[in-house]
Amino acid sequence: MKTQIELLKEFKIAVRGHWGQHLLIDPNIQKKIVELLHPCSGKSVLEIGPGMGALTAWLLDRGVRVTAVEKDPRLCAMLETVFADKIADGFLRLRQADVLKEDLDQLALSMNPPADQIISNLPYYITGPILAGVLPLKRLRRAVFMMQKEVAERIFAKPGSREYGRLSLLVHFFAKAYPAFDVSPKCFTPPPEVHSSVVVFDFKERSKEQEASLEAVLEIAAAAFAQRRKKIMGTLQRDGRWKLSKAEWIGVFESIGICADARPEELAPECYEALERSLRAFRRPHL
Ligand code: SAM
Repeated sequence: MKTQIELLKEFKIAVRGHWGQHLLIDPNIQKKIVELLHPCSGKSVLEIGPGMGALTAWLLDRGVRVTAVEKDPRLCAMLETVFADKIADGFLRLRQADVLKEDLDQLALSMNPPADQIISNLPYYITGPILAGVLPLKRLRRAVFMMQKEVAERIFAKPGSREYGRLSLLVHFFAKAYPAFDVSPKCFTPPPEVHSSVVVFDFKERSKEQEASLEAVLEIAAAAFAQRRKKIMGTLQRDGRWKLSKAEWIGVFESIGICADARPEELAPECYEALERSLRAFRRPHL
């Protein structure tokens, strides 16, 4: 297996910072990340942004089948050369595409066996949209993602803290997340300006009904956190999506035990669920 530095020299590809191209050059960390999927032959895995194959190579080495989505055509061409045998044997499938435009559920299903795991050293500039797109997917059971440490802190933030917000709620509702370990900027080329963290997400089972209500819960959270510093009752009232008089708003908040002065970051996930149940009857049909 060639190292990332050897491949960079051989293919002379200049990395693009604005596409989040910070290549993981430390083989111990590469292996440690891949091990979190317990890779073995007979498994299929989706990968976002394989770059020069830092994680891909370890997965293939363990006999895993990989479908990888990479936006940069230069990196795809390079991967086609380096992994020509694995592609010919059907172990690696490359898609040159923007991951945000891909149907990842469909891609997972098209593998043999269908993939139920996803891995990525994420392109940091789109961490939020990737998490928002991946966590609600139905076919996946586990995701292992490296991200900025600051984003990981937002994921694990508790109600009442400055970091607590939409991302903490999104993750809470869709997955059980575990912090795995932190990674120093020295392990990448070029080194990013921030520290990184690896996070494991085990997806939660959910019924169709739960799915519909989660969508509505997240909609309430999005409306509330759009005005993070304001009182949540006033923000939702001004939003106009729910048709309640002032007295009804106070009644709803009282009935679920939320103080009328509460701000969005003070409400635990369960309060957002209770709010969604109470507001269901008042939802305007066409907004
Ligand atoms: N997996 C490699 C590693 O660990 O060294 C590369 C990780 S690098 C942090 C992020 C990768 O995502 C880059 O290869 C970059 O080209 C790719 N990327 C950036 N934006 C993308 C997008 N919208 N869709 C798919 N891949 C993207």
